Amino acid sequence: MSFRTTPPETSSTPGLQAVTGATEPPALTSRLPEVGTTIFSVMSALAAKHAAVNLGQGFPDFDCDPGLVDAVTAAMRAGHNQYPPMPGVPALRQALSAKIERIYGRRYDPDSEITVTAGATQAILTAVLAFVHPGDEVIVLEPCYDSYGPAITLAGGRIVRVPLNPADFRIDFARLQEAITPRTRALIVNTPHNPTGTVWPAADLRALAELLRPTKLLVISDEVYEHMVFDGQRHVSVSSEPGLAERSMVISSFGKTYHVTGWKVGHVAAPAALMAEFRKVHQFNVFTVNSPMQHGLAAWLAEPSRYEGLSGFYQRKRDRFREGLAGTRFELLPCAGSYFQCVDYSRISSLPDHAFCDWLTKEVGVAAIPLSAFYADPPQRPLARFCFAKTEATLDEALRRLRRL
Ligand code: PMP
Ligand code: GLN
Repeated sequence: MSFRTTPPETSSTPGLQAVTGATEPPALTSRLPEVGTTIFSVMSALAAKHAAVNLGQGFPDFDCDPGLVDAVTAAMRAGHNQYPPMPGVPALRQALSAKIERIYGRRYDPDSEITVTAGATQAILTAVLAFVHPGDEVIVLEPCYDSYGPAITLAGGRIVRVPLNPADFRIDFARLQEAITPRTRALIVNTPHNPTGTVWPAADLRALAELLRPTKLLVISDEVYEHMVFDGQRHVSVSSEPGLAERSMVISSFGKTYHVTGWKVGHVAAPAALMAEFRKVHQFNVFTVNSPMQHGLAAWLAEPSRYEGLSGFYQRKRDRFREGLAGTRFELLPCAGSYFQCVDYSRISSLPDHAFCDWLTKEVGVAAIPLSAFYADPPQRPLARFCFAKTEATLDEALRRLRRL
């Protein structure tokens, strides 16, 4: 079967199907044959169907600050409703540059080194498409966020999966070293980590910089949970690490930081030469990102207390959720950052994790995400992920249900 590029001879209207003759459908050869609907969509739909408390897909169930909505509304009323510049609204890029320099100590030029994206997802895909050639190898550290693998596949790259150390979900440097070949183009890292809540210490980033020093690898650093780090620790950005910053695309998301996941606005910072390549793809991928949100966020970003309080805010939620589960048969894994809490449920059920999360949603009324969704080759340990970015009332209702187990 082939895709017909000219209309059938019997059709008198070009482009329209002939009324009498059958037409052949386009030949479908999936670019992502292994991929179905993301687990986040699947579990949210299941939660809605069964009126379960949705601790699956990662998003807050509370609203953003009304002042941020006011700032966006003001931008719309001020007429910021046409295309902004391709890399993003200058005021937002300037505010981001100042913020990154203040927190992480590296200055990115707002004109040539910062681009506003349609969420972190687009930034990741665009970075991969910009740098990965067919046949290139790209290393991901498993478990990892579910968009990394398909992005690499769409670029024609080969996914090379290196497991994080199963005991603490930190980098296994020996295995990483072994995985690097002359074909390796890039490495994707993520701290604070989804799904495990691990936060990499500065020593790990330093060790990574050392390991990569003799190579030409690009690093794509997914730091969307940069402002959710607990117990007095600090997020160490790849942008603050000499030896890594020069080779890295550093990605974050306003969706996480300001409780606006539905706005889909993120950003990427990188040295100018890398950013120039990124923008070549970005301009044909989305061209630019919606204007009023960018203006509103630019005004909002000027006040550091709006993100500096986030770790404490989420730490209180983490603590409430962990304390609530303390007397149950769930075994709680450490959670040093992000808004995810992983649990080992082997004392409760012997079901595989997809079946367990299905059962938990339908029968117990709490949705969670099976950890195997973040692996190609999942380990045996039965783990599920709960999102605690929820109101106290939601968390308490979920805990009431989970404590019966
Ligand atoms: N990376 C990670 C680790 C995430 O958890 C998410 C989404 N929650 C994203 C990227 C995508 O972020 P965005 O919604 O801004 O596209
Ligand atoms: N990143 C969110 C999570 O891990 C979900 C984002 C999405 O639904 N694509 O739950």
